[in-house]
Amino acid sequence: MPDLALAPCPSYAPEDCRAALEQVIAATRGLDWVKPGMRVGIKANLVAAKKPDAAATTHPALLEVLCRMLRDRGAVPVIGDSPGGLYTALALNRIYRATGMDTVDAELNADFGVREVSLPEAKIAKTATVTAWLLACDGVINFCKLKSHGMMGLSCAAKNLFGTIPGTMKPEYHFRYPKPEDFADMLVDLDEFWKPQLHLVDAVVAMEGNGPTAGAPRPLGLVLAGENPHKLDLVCAHLIGLDPKTVPTLCAAVSRGLVPERVEALSVDGDWMRFVCPGFQTISERSGLQFQNLMKGKGGALFSGFLRRSIAARPGVEKSLCVGCRKCEQICPAKAITMKGGRPVISRGTCIRCFCCQEFCPKGAMKVRRPPLARLLVR
Ligand code: SF4
Ligand code: SF4
Repeated sequence: MPDLALAPCPSYAPEDCRAALEQVIAATRGLDWVKPGMRVGIKANLVAAKKPDAAATTHPALLEVLCRMLRDRGAVPVIGDSPGGLYTALALNRIYRATGMDTVDAELNADFGVREVSLPEAKIAKTATVTAWLLACDGVINFCKLKSHGMMGLSCAAKNLFGTIPGTMKPEYHFRYPKPEDFADMLVDLDEFWKPQLHLVDAVVAMEGNGPTAGAPRPLGLVLAGENPHKLDLVCAHLIGLDPKTVPTLCAAVSRGLVPERVEALSVDGDWMRFVCPGFQTISERSGLQFQNLMKGKGGALFSGFLRRSIAARPGVEKSLCVGCRKCEQICPAKAITMKGGRPVISRGTCIRCFCCQEFCPKGAMKVRRPPLARLLVR
């Protein structure tokens, strides 16, 4: 069996979605593990109340086809997610309507309970508070959307399972793991905990630029499947021209031996190079991870720390787009934002660069900015 499979999917027309999903699923894990009566939880990406053509969320046309395939096997598909903010019926019903989930012939999660779980094998997150609905399912499918991401560079298979942390708890996780490397290790721990039977990627229309909520749609025309989220992410990083060494979850997964460093080591069903998207707008220089080991010893660590801080991307407000709604101030886990004259002002010393403000700004006014030194060093 190949590590992963991809298939062209030129549009969200039902026949295109069906052909692509059937091909990639058959080429990888298949659905023989799905038995009659099983409740199969589909962890979609429902990051915000955005319409499907905004390319921020998993498209309902693909979910419709997947749910039909599951129902044909006698299973009960259940779709859910917990984006940032309130994890309540009111909040999620609004998101289900906006993202088109209410048009999909499937159960939409209505259990907003949470559970404490222990992750004894974890590297960093030995316990976690997770959404109860997915624990109650008999099987899990992770159906993500390919997007650029302010904090992690890439929002794809590995990052999508952060949506199993209740939205109200997410700021705490950002505060607990402020360094991108630690946050990435926590995400990999979560991936290992859930170990979905199947991962699927909606890359029919991806999101570039100011992702994961306010970027621009960019058609790639394909769907991917596999059993290992990091292998999917490695190929997807290459598809959008993102250096895998700048993706913290990939670095964490490589160091644990979960994915090879080089994409050439993967066996892929389908010619992925045909789908490489030149000029895709990424946020790849955000972490400066590539400068980690410039020099040895204490002096080297100090210098590397200085360099990392100097080149690390930061949030910045585009005043012409800001409407002063205060959502960024409310979501900021570090309390680094205060409103002055109706506009947010960020305390650089307090900011932990989690990019929650950028992710949740409803107007796309909060941008990922690269300092001048970063622009000079990383071109
Ligand atoms: S969330 Fe966006 S629009 Fe609202 S105050 Fe912050 S920057 Fe301005
Ligand atoms: S200002 Fe933005 S990036 Fe900085 S800590 Fe607050 S939410 Fe995170």
